[in-house]
Amino acid sequence: MIEFINVEKTYPNGTVALENINLKIEQGEFVAVIGLSGAGKSTLIRCINRMHDITSGQLVVDGVDVGKLKGKQIRRFRRRIGMIFQSFNLVTRTSVINNVLVSFVPDLPLWRKSLGIFTVEQKIKALDALDKVGILDKAYIRVDQLSGGQQQRVALARTLAQNPDIILADEPIASLDPVTSKLVMDDFKKVNKEMNISVIMNIHHVEVALEYADRIIGVRKGEIVFDGEAALVTQEL
Ligand code: ADP
Ligand code: ADP
Repeated sequence: MIEFINVEKTYPNGTVALENINLKIEQGEFVAVIGLSGAGKSTLIRCINRMHDITSGQLVVDGVDVGKLKGKQIRRFRRRIGMIFQSFNLVTRTSVINNVLVSFVPDLPLWRKSLGIFTVEQKIKALDALDKVGILDKAYIRVDQLSGGQQQRVALARTLAQNPDIILADEPIASLDPVTSKLVMDDFKKVNKEMNISVIMNIHHVEVALEYADRIIGVRKGEIVFDGEAALVTQEL
């Protein structure tokens, strides 16, 4: 479970990005965070894995007080939470499977990762993750030969290989066309339902959010203005 208790986030330049955030997200939920640009969606998501530190309040993830983690503990904690970005964040000049394999050794420099240091078990796990998102046949193709949608699925597979409890996705379909967006959203939905992984997604396409998410959190000027089932969302958001 993820719990925000009176969370506030003020950036060093004085911008108040989040205020009075109180929120509980249970394991296995599919949550879409919606709102205008600058509302605080990305900040909200990035506090969960401590890419951003909160300024006050408390954030608890699966019983862990996130603000109290230090150094190595932060890295270990982050490995249980997958993160997906708008820009995929892949190493485009190497193969799909290598991109998934690097998730097993995130701290190694890239040149060492290319030395074939992976075990058969790790390779099987990586191929299995690619199979789950329907791109097993692309395993040995270079990432820069793939379409945007395929690249986002590689990013999802890389995350799955870590066995995460939670996947955070910051505008995962913002750079994809509508048809491809649906394919990628179908994969998120599948992962959420079949593997009971919580998905918390920041998305500005409201229609897509309503179609896929079970729960919508509307953010405006750093505060939550709506929290409920997708079916109950009104025009005002
Ligand atoms: P959204 O994801 O809804 O577009 P963000 O969470 O990115 O919103 O931003 C919320 C507010 O915080 C905005 O006013 C934005 O300009 C500001 N902001 C975001 N990141 C930083 C930062 N690193 N430093 C200062 N202000 C920031
Ligand atoms: P996006 O629209 O994709 O969320 P942004 O332009 O909001 O991208 O933010 C890009 C990066 O710049 C983010 O890492 C964010 O934290 C940072 N950022 C956003 N607004 C500000 C700001 N006002 N001052 C400093 N950094 C910011």
